[in-house]
Amino acid sequence: MNNKITTLLLLLFFAFSFQSCKDDNKDNTTPPTSILGDASKAYLSGAVPSLDIQIDYITGFKPTNQTIVNLKNFLSARLNKPGGISVSLREIPSPQNSKYTIEQIRTLETQNRTVSSSLSTMSAYVIYLDNDYIESQGNQVVLGIAYSSTSFAIFEKTIKSLSGGLGEPSETTLESAVTQHEFGHLLGLVNTGTPITSNHHDEANGAHCTNNDCLMHYSIQTGTSLGNLLGGNIPDLDIDCIRDLQANGGK
Ligand SMILES: [Zn+2]
Ligand SMILES: [Zn+2]
Repeated sequence: MNNKITTLLLLLFFAFSFQSCKDDNKDNTTPPTSILGDASKAYLSGAVPSLDIQIDYITGFKPTNQTIVNLKNFLSARLNKPGGISVSLREIPSPQNSKYTIEQIRTLETQNRTVSSSLSTMSAYVIYLDNDYIESQGNQVVLGIAYSSTSFAIFEKTIKSLSGGLGEPSETTLESAVTQHEFGHLLGLVNTGTPITSNHHDEANGAHCTNNDCLMHYSIQTGTSLGNLLGGNIPDLDIDCIRDLQANGGK
């Protein structure tokens, strides 16, 4: 009995020290939960009842209103958040980077993130950027990247260059697909924080799903399945990915 109380107090202590640490925006240390997928259960289950999402965008690279609506609908369908999901949008000036490295993206987050997680509220940080990822070149591009347990970046300039034209998906469709795909990584998909309940992990391509109709197929992130997005279809999670989320506290 005493041991249980000690364990609980320790857990509470860690939860509060994490909170006070995250409240200090001047703190440059790596957040304690910076391993991708580590926050999946807290996002999925109702144990932490609310979710605050901060979306920053570089001037001129704002996601469409419909993309925000689509993201909220996607998350509402899968996360147990009886306290609600709130989204705040904010414009930030361009840091004038040529192409972005992960380190440059982390620096922007450190300078601009104001949301933090607590026992009652989970947080997520999303940034829409005005240039390509450092490793994007030719038709080998990265459209989004989840780089910590609670944050991801969308390469909005790259998305704009591949959408809205003849024979291309609409900006909202591509933006929504990539944004929801990256959030799927924060939810622990595939087999990275949220354990698999069936054999659908495409290990050769990282934390992705073997089903090429699934939102978590690797091609969403690299834009190699743009043809599938014509007609405004945003891929959904397949039943295998949904079952994984349900087994880890989601709905
Ligand atoms: Zn991915
Ligand atoms: Zn899947």
